[in-house]
Amino acid sequence: MHKIAFVLFKTLILILLSSLSWANSSTVTTPTVNFSPDVLTPIAVGANMLYLKDPEHLENINSILQSDARTNNAQIKHNTQNSPNSSFLDWKNIKRISPNFGFTDTAYWFKFNIYNENENPHAVYIELPIPFLDDIELYRVKNDQIQEQHLVGDKYPFSSRPIQHQNFVMPFELSAGDNLIYMRVASAGTVEAPLTIWLPEQHANATADEHFLQGIWAGIIGIMVIYNLLLFFSIKDINYLYYVSFSFGYLFFQICLKGYGFAYLWPNQLEWNSFSISTFIALSNLSVLMLMISFLKLKERNPFAYQVMSVIAFISGTLLLLTFLIPYSFTIRLTSAITMFTCSMSLILGYVSLFRGDPDARYFCLAWTATFIGITILGAVKFGFISANFWTNNAGQIGVVLLVSLLSFALANRFNREKELRIFAQDSSLESEKIARQSQEQLLQAKIFANDQLELKVEERTKTMQKALVELESANSRLELASTTDALTTLFNRGHFEARLDVEYKRATRHNRDLSAILCDIDYFKTVNDTYGHKAGDDCLRNVALVFKNKVTRSGDLIARFGGEEFIILLVDTPLKEAIIIAQSLCDELRHTSLNSNHQQISITASFGISSLSQAPTKSAEELIHHADIAMYQAKHNGRDQISVWNQKEKTTPTNNTPEH
Ligand code: GH3
Ligand code: MG
Ligand code: MG
Repeated sequence: MHKIAFVLFKTLILILLSSLSWANSSTVTTPTVNFSPDVLTPIAVGANMLYLKDPEHLENINSILQSDARTNNAQIKHNTQNSPNSSFLDWKNIKRISPNFGFTDTAYWFKFNIYNENENPHAVYIELPIPFLDDIELYRVKNDQIQEQHLVGDKYPFSSRPIQHQNFVMPFELSAGDNLIYMRVASAGTVEAPLTIWLPEQHANATADEHFLQGIWAGIIGIMVIYNLLLFFSIKDINYLYYVSFSFGYLFFQICLKGYGFAYLWPNQLEWNSFSISTFIALSNLSVLMLMISFLKLKERNPFAYQVMSVIAFISGTLLLLTFLIPYSFTIRLTSAITMFTCSMSLILGYVSLFRGDPDARYFCLAWTATFIGITILGAVKFGFISANFWTNNAGQIGVVLLVSLLSFALANRFNREKELRIFAQDSSLESEKIARQSQEQLLQAKIFANDQLELKVEERTKTMQKALVELESANSRLELASTTDALTTLFNRGHFEARLDVEYKRATRHNRDLSAILCDIDYFKTVNDTYGHKAGDDCLRNVALVFKNKVTRSGDLIARFGGEEFIILLVDTPLKEAIIIAQSLCDELRHTSLNSNHQQISITASFGISSLSQAPTKSAEELIHHADIAMYQAKHNGRDQISVWNQKEKTTPTNNTPEH
């Protein structure tokens, strides 16, 4: 890398130095090139000539010839007088290997002598292979007289050329002996004058070879342009477009530079031809900058370089437009300078990216390194550091083929790598999605399971609760029953009776209805207990209840156990008369019913007290019962086994006499 940089640097310095002309005016002898028709190789005139600067473009061939004639005469005089050599025109020797004066507006005159060793005149071609020179005049002078002359240059239509060739090829008929050649070159770009003398048939062969090689070269680059353009349409990666634009620009830059554009593509478009080189350089330059910025991802990876390169890209873009508007002499200088900078920066930033670990930069660096090696070799050949052969002469173009191929490879490689990354990312996202879906499914299953469980539990609980509710209801009703019922006789108990009595009493008084009460107390029950036992006593009580239940069946009537062996019957809507009948029937029924308890016949009687609202209104329900009680005691008092009606005056009214126990 360091070696390459060193050689590159040296080459650039030499190119710069070559742009500056320097001269030595100490000797003015016109150099002579010997020509023989037997030579097998073309004769390179190279630096074997004198040159003369004409900055103001004042000279013409006649003024030059006149001045030279004066100089010669003066020299003869001076020589006779042994005076020092002097000249009226400032002809100078070229002190370098090639007559190259870099970018200049100056017109240059050149002069050299071809000595035809043959005795007869001989046809030759003098070729100037710099197709972009604007204005060339070539004269063959013998004895101060112009013998032949050609006026060529790319400011004249292609068809006006004496030989239809991409380079300037001028046919001459060399006289035997000396043939003084004068040449004037003026151009808006660089001024170079590397002349070659050919035998016409030699030149035809060389041209065929050259066309073959250039055809192959342009074919390779052209195919790369088309192929990658198609790739761009298919892949839609902008880098491919930059690449195509660069390769296309460079291909046409070369086509212009080598004169093929003018020769084959636009032979009459003089104006376009005059600036096409700078347009294609600017296009190629802008594209390569964009490619570099995008391919090396400078924006993210090297912001400073990105800013610098963006500015250069902007200038390049502007220059590309300006090539159509402002003179070629200006744009060609600027585009050339920027191109050198851009190519160097591509190499440098490529290596910076590579060292920073960007794997895509590998082929990018390789591509630019190949190009720089090519340019360096070409420079080294031009300056005579290494010998010229097919490979070294074409090192520049081989370098460009390598650049274009390796850049295309770099793009493909990068595309592949990104595709792999994409596929990998896609795979992992698919995998994640799968896992997520599985988790979701599991969650759903768990939810369903939990719901099922919940439903089961709720159902179970509901059942339990329903069961508990049923049990509670039954317990409640049992409790209610227990709270209202007498356990022994299953009649209502006294508490329930009193509650109902209250309600019925109020209703009866409110609606002026009848209400009667019958209080019953078993006669001499203590004796029954004592005689037959307490259990037999209980049986008696149950039996009395049964008799009452069977007798008092009307709905609304209420039978309750009022105390130990006392019962009470509340008769709703029943007047005293009916109550008396009922009480009497109960009294009679008991008397005639005997109970079999423990194989013993037990007979009992009971005393009944009757009171009724129909007799006289009472102050309270309690009073009604109290009256019945009084009446019942009256029945006891009257002899038992009878009914007695409460009487306000007499307190009670006995209805019949019962037999004494
Ligand atoms: P009288 O004719 O004056 O009413 O006499 P009597 O013996 O019936 O009256 P007394 O009040 O002296 O006795 C009532 C008896 O009733 C006393 C008690 O042992 C009995 N007795 C009260 N409740 C029950 C009971 O639930 N079962 C049994 N077997 N006897 C009871
Ligand atoms: Mg009693
Ligand atoms: Mg009693």
